[in-house]
Amino acid sequence: MKITDIRATTVTVPIEAPLRHANGCHWGRFVRTIVEVETDNGIVGLGEMGGGGESTEAAFRAMKTYLIGHDPVRLEELRFLIANPTASLYNNRTQIMAALEFACLDILGQAWGVPVCDILGGRLRDRVPFASYCFFRYANPQTGRGEVRTADQLLAYAAEMKKRYGFTSHKLKGGVFHPDYEVEVYRALASAFPGDSFRFDPNGVLSTEQAIRFSQAIEHLRNDYLEDPVFGLNGMRRTRQMTRIPLATNTVVVNFEQLAANILNTAADVILLDTTFWGGIRACVKAAAICETFQLGVAVHSSGELGIQLATMLHLGAVIPNLSFAADAHYHHLADDIIEGGLMPYENGAIKVPDQPGLGVKLDRRKLSLYSDLYKSLGNYPYDRDPGRPNWTPLVPNDRWADPADDRAPEIPY
Ligand SMILES: [Mg+2]
Repeated sequence: MKITDIRATTVTVPIEAPLRHANGCHWGRFVRTIVEVETDNGIVGLGEMGGGGESTEAAFRAMKTYLIGHDPVRLEELRFLIANPTASLYNNRTQIMAALEFACLDILGQAWGVPVCDILGGRLRDRVPFASYCFFRYANPQTGRGEVRTADQLLAYAAEMKKRYGFTSHKLKGGVFHPDYEVEVYRALASAFPGDSFRFDPNGVLSTEQAIRFSQAIEHLRNDYLEDPVFGLNGMRRTRQMTRIPLATNTVVVNFEQLAANILNTAADVILLDTTFWGGIRACVKAAAICETFQLGVAVHSSGELGIQLATMLHLGAVIPNLSFAADAHYHHLADDIIEGGLMPYENGAIKVPDQPGLGVKLDRRKLSLYSDLYKSLGNYPYDRDPGRPNWTPLVPNDRWADPADDRAPEIPY
């Protein structure tokens, strides 16, 4: 088999309501690049990457000079072909490689008649459990509904998610309001669902002293872990010395060099593997094996996926023995998807690992065209800007918190 073509299409897909986070906001939609890799025997493999636009599509087109004629089975060679570690000082293509790896694995699965998890060692589980992913949210600008700012709003939202999808683990994305406010909201969440487990992630914007104070204030709760309370391995180490809660990261251990450093001098107990950040599903499987050896916890990270990337997360979750926690996914925030059949369903807090050959998802061409047109009319949005605070610059550590009494809904075009 040989690769004959690579196509990239940027789409934007609406979410239920704008999601607030420590650096800014998802402005009511996700922007993603859908990648199609075609082979000389007519198989089309699918990949996906965050962000998009002309420069991203051009970056994928530029990969044709590297990959036309390449056999998709030679995945290890692909790594050195487009993401050689020394050349990446000049051209960092880790995320591009991930999208192409997804597509090549999808091609191989289709060619061999097996799901991707069978190529990766075979499934250990048929369903991957997910946590709810609760954000502080602005109201949907079209409906005026969906705001999450107060503890009462969060509890109502989490109860609705639990009822609808069956989650028994709940994640709160923080770093928006002062940690003294967010710790109260988190404690209210934890006491509302006894028996469930909880995780908090302020995206690394607390000071180390705030992180220590926060972690000690929640030690009595049923925490999965505290995720990236501070930014940097040393801040994590200092926090870890002062708390009994496991620390998790998806920011300071995202490659093998950092994983080695974390094993030699531990900063994080749980490594959140992201199929995009690490450069593919196979890199995550390798990292999970190292974590297994050193008895570090592992879970699956979400960077805001549509159905193709969700499939990569499901195949990853299916094959790693040491999946210690429910996976994260933004998926339940989506209003729609670009795959055939629409949004994949949750059942009892879990999603079924696809059985069909390859990744097990197919593009819905009508939806691809619809959300490509929507992208063409709306363009990108600034992920690292807050529409409600146009003059705000987030510091790390942050001391410029949003005001929880401010109930204004910003104008967001979508
Ligand atoms: Mg995180």
